[in-house]
Amino acid sequence: MTATIKQKTSRSAALFERSKRVSPGGVHSPVRAFKGVGGTPRFVESARGAVLTDVDGNNYIDFCMAWGPMLFGHQDQDVARAVRVSMSRGWSYGTAEPYSLELAELMTKNIPWAQKVRFVNSGTEAVMSALRVARAATGRDKIIKFDGCYHGHSDPLLVRAGSGLAEMASPDSAGVSASVARDTVVVPLDDLGALEAAFKKHKGHIAAVIVEPVPANNGLLLQKKSFLREMTAIARRHGALVIFDEVITGFRTAFGGMAELTGIRPDLVTYGKIIGGGFPVGAYAGRRDLMDMVAPSGPVYQAGTLSGNPVAMAAGCAMLKKILRVKPYKRLAAEAEKFAAAAEAAGRKAGVPVRVQRFSSMFWMIFGNVDTADGFVRRPDQTPAEHRDLYLKVFHYALERGVYLTPSAFEVDFVSAAHSAAQLERASKVVCRAIESLGDIS
Ligand SMILES: *Cc1c(COP(=O)(O)O)cnc(C)c1O
Repeated sequence: MTATIKQKTSRSAALFERSKRVSPGGVHSPVRAFKGVGGTPRFVESARGAVLTDVDGNNYIDFCMAWGPMLFGHQDQDVARAVRVSMSRGWSYGTAEPYSLELAELMTKNIPWAQKVRFVNSGTEAVMSALRVARAATGRDKIIKFDGCYHGHSDPLLVRAGSGLAEMASPDSAGVSASVARDTVVVPLDDLGALEAAFKKHKGHIAAVIVEPVPANNGLLLQKKSFLREMTAIARRHGALVIFDEVITGFRTAFGGMAELTGIRPDLVTYGKIIGGGFPVGAYAGRRDLMDMVAPSGPVYQAGTLSGNPVAMAAGCAMLKKILRVKPYKRLAAEAEKFAAAAEAAGRKAGVPVRVQRFSSMFWMIFGNVDTADGFVRRPDQTPAEHRDLYLKVFHYALERGVYLTPSAFEVDFVSAAHSAAQLERASKVVCRAIESLGDIS
């Protein structure tokens, strides 16, 4: 299917070989190695707007967008200006400074349930710290997470469901101890009965329930609003806190993320990705009484040499101010919807089962027949068996033609404000042709 085009990738291939000698798998985060899709990972030399340029000189219309942070595209000029100004003053002080204050006030003013905020360097760190606060506040040890939600790579969250319903989890990575995994209970998404059962079984021991309100790290597993609402009610009835992990959805779906859109007020909320404008920033926030438990005002220790880094804070401020000014969400959602509808139409035309689950500017193309009552994939096990193989074909077809879809069948694509109408149309045509060509061979 890709025989007609042979893109030059020799420089990327050579760098990949060299990288493998000095770094595990040649990368610094696993999915970048293209293991899930095969082929040569493109070594990107620069990026601007919606376009990535690799070391072989190929250009790609980017839908991975650094996995989420680049809401306004690469090298957004407002972020760039703020970073330059910040750099001209210095770039790390290890003291109190006014820049994190500005970002914290921007958040607390516009997100009422984020009464206080602490900055860290990644989403992983934000989640890890929020869980510590939840344990301290409740005096309980266990947490509930949902199978299909990703919350970074801290030990207690690198776990998978046990064999039985509401069982304790087992490690999902080598090096995670069974004793840590025992404090995490994994339950299926979209299943309130299982959640109730977990609370009954671990009565009085659950400190918090953590959820990605739109699970976007295992495909896009759209949840019903009623599920989120009931989930919250069940947790509160059992004296557990509710943590919304909005590392992807925060500032992506609305300024105040899914808490704003659903009207559910989480006790704690975690942010990352967009909040740093593409620089390493994470944050956890929430109820004042909970956040006041964090050191130095309270007994929960949490620190960071580079936390609140002034350059990253300046990038975050520029990003968030621009969101408030531009209000990009409606337009982005409409563009993503158009893209999704075209892909589904191409599938119908070619007799290839394609469904696109979309929320805001995120979308996930699902290949194969979805076999659920309402036609939605809400849990990982509902993904059609043939999805992965068909996605790989579409991915490579598009890549060879200059469209960089997310290099995993189980990650989402992002439309940014920097994608022009012409770029979106071109990319859409390529993806539609990729889908149609599946019909030729299947
Ligand atoms: C990306 C992500 C994380 C982890 O953030 P890092 O900055 O990669 O550590 C945690 N939770 C969710 C929902 C995410 O999307």
